Amino acid sequence: MHRKFDVLIVGAGPAGASAALCLRNSGLSAALIDKAVFPREKICGDGLTLDVINQLSLISGELAASFGNFTAKLPCYSAEIFSPDYRQISIEVRPKQEQRPMYTCRRSDFDNFLLDQVRKCGNVSVFENTHPQKLIIIEDRILLECGEDTFEGRIIAGADGVNSFVARELGVERITREQQCVAMRTYYTGLKPLREGSHIEMYLPVEILPGYLWIFHLGDGTSNVGVGMPATLINKKGITLKQCFEGLLMSEPLKSRLTGAVRTEAVKGYTIPYGGRRGPISGHRFLLAGDAAALVDPITGEGVGNAIRSGRVAAEHIINCFRADDFSAGFNKAYDDEIYRRMMPEFKFHNKFRSLLHHPSLLNYIIGTASDYPPVERSLQKLIWNLKVNKLGPRIRLVFSLIYMFTLQGLFASLTRPKRKRA
Ligand SMILES: Cc1cc2nc3c(=O)[nH]c(=O)nc-3n(C[C@H](O)[C@H](O)[C@H](O)COP(=O)(O)OP(=O)(O)OC[C@H]3O[C@@H](n4cnc5c(N)ncnc54)[C@H](O)[C@@H]3O)c2cc1C
Repeated sequence: MHRKFDVLIVGAGPAGASAALCLRNSGLSAALIDKAVFPREKICGDGLTLDVINQLSLISGELAASFGNFTAKLPCYSAEIFSPDYRQISIEVRPKQEQRPMYTCRRSDFDNFLLDQVRKCGNVSVFENTHPQKLIIIEDRILLECGEDTFEGRIIAGADGVNSFVARELGVERITREQQCVAMRTYYTGLKPLREGSHIEMYLPVEILPGYLWIFHLGDGTSNVGVGMPATLINKKGITLKQCFEGLLMSEPLKSRLTGAVRTEAVKGYTIPYGGRRGPISGHRFLLAGDAAALVDPITGEGVGNAIRSGRVAAEHIINCFRADDFSAGFNKAYDDEIYRRMMPEFKFHNKFRSLLHHPSLLNYIIGTASDYPPVERSLQKLIWNLKVNKLGPRIRLVFSLIYMFTLQGLFASLTRPKRKRA
């Protein structure tokens, strides 16, 4: 069957679904095409940061309200962070001025929630279990062959994840080894949060730095336990991440942490594409969004927020293409510029900041000091928040914050404050 639309979107994850949602009042017809049937499994840590929640409100107040009523999510107000030598600090995961917490939510549920919202848009047709095989771009249109169906559009958005079919078919430069993080996760039942409302635990074992291991507690009584590490480091160390992950879970202190818990799913892994390299993400009649465009935070591995952000920007740009009746590579370059204008400063910053995570002794010092001295803990919390919400402004302020925090205050605190009593 030949199906004709204005816009084709391949991939109905957060990037593709958000792009579709942002086209709802555009007067354009769109096909949202995914090879999977929703709700579908998505290998993820299942953490939805404040950025995700903010992005939903930027799409529409109605969407944010629906998410507010969505019951599969679990609010999280603080996180427990463990240094390489397993000292612990608690960090609030929302700044004081923010009303909203962050959430944990199974990605199969969250992505299905988003797709349900798309299904309510009269101008978007959703095609699941649809497998693109060939993509042809001709002067004035695109043809996407999916078995017996051919989809015709005037522009295509590739929101089909890190191994993007659209990017491959169009010969877009793929992500480099340096940009790849290998991450894997499994699920357990019977694990209780360490504190009420604190559903995030992050461990920094020396074996995987600058990667980390997480335990994220979910609302259904299960916990997502996973690990992520840059691919180049895995090569350099000559290890397999799965063995390393299992080894960490079998040794202290995680062994004790998991006592009584039962693993309910196999360990599954996937690639995370770190942002930071300014590769082309558009061309004649196409744009890439989300993981297909490599837009994941290089410290935390969070990609859902930027997937939604890029889906929004892609939809805005697509509307501009129709207004200007221009789908050329030259016109679409404005999309690359806009994406990198919004995200590149943070990527560059976080890539540099990640180099600090190569130093276990520094992390032991910072977290150990924060663990002993509440004022340092509060400073660290502020710093993490400034980094997260990207409000630091000029880099020099970060450098001063670091010098201030790591040395002056740490030194002062160690000289003047009584140590926190440990049980
Ligand atoms: C182990 C792990 C843990 C992570 N933890 C977190 C976390 O806690 N928080 C966070 O924010 N981010 C996390 N991420 C990153 C996050 O999962 C991604 O950045 C995010 O899913 C990107 O969204 P997307 O819409 O671009 O792509 P995806 O979510 O990958 O969606 C792509 C969609 O395209 C479809 N598709 C793929 N190929 C085709 C094709 N050929 N034809 C048709 N459809 C296709 C897929 O079925 C899928 O539905 C994690 C990643 C991993 C691997």
